[in-house]
Amino acid sequence: MKSPAINQAMDILRELREISEASRDIPEKLNKIIAMLARQMGADAAACYLVVDDNYLELFAASGFNADIAHKISLRVGEGLVGEVAKTGRFLTVANVWKHPSFSYKPEMGEEPFKSFAGVPLIRWHRAIGVITLQKKEVYEFSRTELEVLETVAMVLADMAASEEMIDYKNDLIRARGQSGKEKYKGISLSKGYGIGNAVVHRRRQAVTKIFAEDKDKELKRLEVAHAKMNHDLDEKFNSTKLGIGEHVDILDAYRMFAKDKGWYKKVADNVGSGLTAEAAVERAYEDMWNRLSGTKDSYMRERLHDLRDVADRLIGYLSGDPVSEQKVCHDNIIVVAQTMGPADLMDYDYTKIRGLVIEDGTPTMHVAIVAKALGIPVVAKINGIYNQIKNGELLALDGNEGYVYIRPSSPVQERFREKIKEKERLAAKLASLKKLPSKTKDGKKINLYLNVGLAFDLDYIETTNCDGIGLYRTEIPFMASEVMPDVAQQIGYYKELLDRAGNKKVVFRSLDVGSDKLLPYWSNAGEENPAIGWRSIRITLDRRAILRKQMRAFLRAAAGKELNVMFPMISNYAEFEEARETLMIELEKEKRRGNETPAKVNVGLMIEVPSVVFQLDSILRVADFISIGTNDLAQFVFACDRGNPRLTERYDVLSAPFLRVMQEIITRADQAGVLCSVCGEMAGNPIEAMALISLGYRNLSMSGSSFGRVKSMVRSLNVEEMEDYIKILLKSNRRTLRPQLISYANDHGIEIY
Ligand code: PEP
Ligand code: MG
Repeated sequence: MKSPAINQAMDILRELREISEASRDIPEKLNKIIAMLARQMGADAAACYLVVDDNYLELFAASGFNADIAHKISLRVGEGLVGEVAKTGRFLTVANVWKHPSFSYKPEMGEEPFKSFAGVPLIRWHRAIGVITLQKKEVYEFSRTELEVLETVAMVLADMAASEEMIDYKNDLIRARGQSGKEKYKGISLSKGYGIGNAVVHRRRQAVTKIFAEDKDKELKRLEVAHAKMNHDLDEKFNSTKLGIGEHVDILDAYRMFAKDKGWYKKVADNVGSGLTAEAAVERAYEDMWNRLSGTKDSYMRERLHDLRDVADRLIGYLSGDPVSEQKVCHDNIIVVAQTMGPADLMDYDYTKIRGLVIEDGTPTMHVAIVAKALGIPVVAKINGIYNQIKNGELLALDGNEGYVYIRPSSPVQERFREKIKEKERLAAKLASLKKLPSKTKDGKKINLYLNVGLAFDLDYIETTNCDGIGLYRTEIPFMASEVMPDVAQQIGYYKELLDRAGNKKVVFRSLDVGSDKLLPYWSNAGEENPAIGWRSIRITLDRRAILRKQMRAFLRAAAGKELNVMFPMISNYAEFEEARETLMIELEKEKRRGNETPAKVNVGLMIEVPSVVFQLDSILRVADFISIGTNDLAQFVFACDRGNPRLTERYDVLSAPFLRVMQEIITRADQAGVLCSVCGEMAGNPIEAMALISLGYRNLSMSGSSFGRVKSMVRSLNVEEMEDYIKILLKSNRRTLRPQLISYANDHGIEIY
């Protein structure tokens, strides 16, 4: 026996479907639906408002008000009762609107006779895209049951309002009024690069029109079949796509496990058991999860919610008999435009054709952006309202460096973009041609160039750059991409893979450097006031010694029979280095006692990142086999300047006398002690900064693969002896920055600093 509310909702939904099928004309359809709603709910008036641009709601259909009022009323989001429903995204009932402080009277509507009000938002992607209202002439409290019916109708209307035909209708209206014409939009860059191509609007979500099921068993069977088919197809797709290796693959694997999660499946099945259709059950399970987790500040959990949205959409697609297989696109160069996207969505397209990705709701950590970056696809995100602005097939130009999207770009803009894309290709070709040439300065000094790696796809650079080795392996990166703390066997797997790929080249492993900006998903943030100078890096691993011991064991076993280079980050004094070094040595002894093969040679070093160690270099250089300077952290502590604070980026410069003198001090001491000294912070990967370092005496630089070619090109055009005198003069300067002087010097001396 179904409740009266369910019976009433089913009657309304049946009529709604009949109206939708009978009528093609959008205004007629909406008017009929609203009139039907007023009649069925026993109200004297009803209305439907839709958001037209980000901040305005427009009356699209009305019943019981003055005739021909549609499209003549608009309200700011937040204005009046309707605006409040849109702003809060929550229903609102008022027994007598004339006594309500937020009521905004619109005389042209003819609403004088009405007293009571109920408004429910149309929600899409957690945002109100419209509002439906009911009004009665009497003072009246709308009941919870009536609201539930209204919410069910709102769910269906929201799908209708977000349909392609409705968006086109709205855009035509806006264009006809001449409100449009803006063609350049600013967002944030999530992956660099330029792209030009035809828009493919990513609309995957199916409308859930049938909410209640007649036959639970049949419905459960449908769910079971669709779920199994979806997982089978996902497995096939992932296994057959050439994705290489890397963090993006870990993300996609985690997604796959999510799609198979038994707990979530059980929740959906329970919802079916309570009378919902399988589609509505999926939607309800997602909404429950969203309600529980959406308030979290934890970016990892938020990304998981995005993934779950994607899995839910995918499953609904399978349930409706319209699974998402390869998206059919008729252009060779496409830019995918999505409101939001899960990581697997990208693989529904032939990604070799994707020249860019625009995501209306995006965050830097969102999984699809990480996958896109790994595939070399530029991404621009966070542009409010852009999703509804763009039509399939429209030409778009995307500037992933600055975060701009151009809709229907003019010919000069198109020309500029094509030129930038070509320029990038030309530079890449020129830099690739340097691969076989030695990394020597014009006056014959050999500069060893190493790679910084972390993500597995960084390893591809080992082959493409012909580097001298790996100067920094950020071991925390696979820890960050993992769901749980990797055990020794898993760690050995990561480290061995790197050593195998590096062949005979030297590899420097850095011990776990977590905390501050590098958080592990399975470790809660300590909630410190100053995490950059808090419990982080070696401070954590010395306190949680088991983690350090396990990592040392994994290093030793992975490098059995080979040379092992280990360095410790964020060392603040000699004692800390000794303690860390001792931990490694004890593990080495244990390995020997166990009879395990040990590395042929073990070199132990540290990172120079904390200014205090510069004042203890004499002692440290007596025991350390090598040192490597983390200029990113060192600069933040030398200048007392947060390395991630954009307000401060212009204020202090590593290319200034105080910092260059610190750098000079370190290399001079290391050379005197005969200890190998390299730089592995960002400074080493920036041609103009690397040029200054070489003139100070540095001969070992470690950088990201993408900087390698540009630095090598600078090295090959530099005459070190000629520059040494000039840098000595600059070290006496009191200027805030020496960058302009160094750039002029490079330009005057034909030094290539791209
Ligand atoms: C540095 O601090 O310069 C460095 C190389 O380490 P990370 O950037 O990983 O902190
Ligand atoms: Mg550092």
